Amino acid sequence: MNTDKIIVRSPATLRQIAELPVALAADVAAAVERGRRVQAIWRQTSFAERANLLYRLRDLLLDEGEKLADILTAETGRPRAEVFGSELFYLCDAIGSWAKKSAGYLSPERIKPHFPLLKFKKVVSTYAPRGVIGIISPWNFPLTMTLGEALPALMAGNAVVIKPSELTPLSARFGAEIAAKAGFPENLLQVVLGYGATGEALIDHADMISFTGSVETGKRVMRKAAERLVPLSLELGGKDPMIVLQDADLDRAAGACVWGSLMNCGQICTSIERVYVEAPVYQSFVDKVVERVRAIRQGPSEDEIDIGAMTSAQQLEKVASQVDEALAKGARALTGGRRKPNLPGHYYEPTVLVDVDHGMSVMTEETFGPIIPIVKVRDADEALRMANDSRFGLSGSIFSRDKNTAWRLAEGLQSGSVSINDSLVSFIVADAPMGGGKESGYGYRHGAEGIRKYCQQKTIVVDRFGLKEEFPWYPTTKQKAAQLPHLLNLLCHTGWRYKWRALRGLMKG
Ligand code: NAD
Repeated sequence: MNTDKIIVRSPATLRQIAELPVALAADVAAAVERGRRVQAIWRQTSFAERANLLYRLRDLLLDEGEKLADILTAETGRPRAEVFGSELFYLCDAIGSWAKKSAGYLSPERIKPHFPLLKFKKVVSTYAPRGVIGIISPWNFPLTMTLGEALPALMAGNAVVIKPSELTPLSARFGAEIAAKAGFPENLLQVVLGYGATGEALIDHADMISFTGSVETGKRVMRKAAERLVPLSLELGGKDPMIVLQDADLDRAAGACVWGSLMNCGQICTSIERVYVEAPVYQSFVDKVVERVRAIRQGPSEDEIDIGAMTSAQQLEKVASQVDEALAKGARALTGGRRKPNLPGHYYEPTVLVDVDHGMSVMTEETFGPIIPIVKVRDADEALRMANDSRFGLSGSIFSRDKNTAWRLAEGLQSGSVSINDSLVSFIVADAPMGGGKESGYGYRHGAEGIRKYCQQKTIVVDRFGLKEEFPWYPTTKQKAAQLPHLLNLLCHTGWRYKWRALRGLMKG
């Protein structure tokens, strides 16, 4: 592969749509330096000024919606409706949330010290921007994962340099152009294009890295970041389980399952990737899911379709090989199970697999494709045990009419978020922290944690009384040395006799 340039191809037609230059290490260093200069001014702006720019950006995104949809569908192969229904819908809401709530999330917090002698000090915890944030992004949501991730970083007073995926660089570039039009200062939000090496150069220079991508790359990024101890947040892959109990509303569960597994062709970190259903309702649930999946319309974005092509050829190969392996090991495809014939692009048919088990990679490795493997389980406990039998811990779904049981399972699921009687929603609540456990990463996007990660938390302690001397200061006299154990006993011992003795000791001097 020629890594001097990026050739962008439409996944739906395989036609070339752009050829772009790659940013070299020196270009990345220069971009970070430019960002650093403008950040020194930006950090002094008020939250209200930043919020106003965000609102202008939102209006322009809406004004340019059709153009954005052209670019996004061309480079991802997704249906047009999804661009509005997921990317723009999410971004517009997230902008409103960050614009309104950032000041509150980052307002200085007065802290009351526990130790009585420190009560004479004023203690305040504050949040200072880190400087230049490097955002390294995947291809599955080319605008949400780039511009969307930049919103809290900018609101916190940072500059941002984005390294989008080499498969989908056009949306991020367009997003940055719109931000400039909205009035964000020049070089505050920059995009550098390239492959892994460009990402590594960003890790060499930025003040923090926000990485979203696969577990394997995440581990490489972490090793690289360790060289400079650059702060890092990692939003990585998932293998999200769905549990359906026998008292669930099966129609809702089947609808949520198909939506949660197939939206964006299953290329979502929080896609439902394995389903565990209690035995008494297993067959009925499977029938409902198969009926819905057979009705899914797949094709190029000009047609009235539900799902499009897969964005990455490599991912398509991975999906096909997981399904082939499962079929070879005894699984059955009730619908799909193959690439879509007669279309030139990266199409894989939406697929329902049964007779699957944890000896198959389709049940243990991230699939990131339109595949729904369903397993029959004895009861809720077996479902939970199998759901937790995974190296991933991103999100999951529980379906039951019994609120207590659903809540118990939600608490027991080893994941960063859970939906009860719903799917995919945890990702879009911009006000609630969302992150992964186990190998799905660490750190959070959204909510207070999602903006505080872009800050250096700084505690400021202020003396209030201005005494000429403080007790522990030099010189350490014999008298002070004798008084210290008494003082400690007086303040900390739980026995009144000891306190009383300490008080007498102190009074004796
Ligand atoms: P990827 O790991 O292949 O690439 C992600 C980004 O890292 C790309 O921009 C790539 O160029 C860059 N990169 C590659 N090597 C690098 C290196 N050595 N140093 C620095 N950067 C490097 O992931 P992908 O295939 O683009 O995206 C799919 C993955 O993203 C899936 O695993 C999915 O679950 C995950 N994802 C997670 C979340 C989440 O919130 N947890 C959200 C979306 C996607």
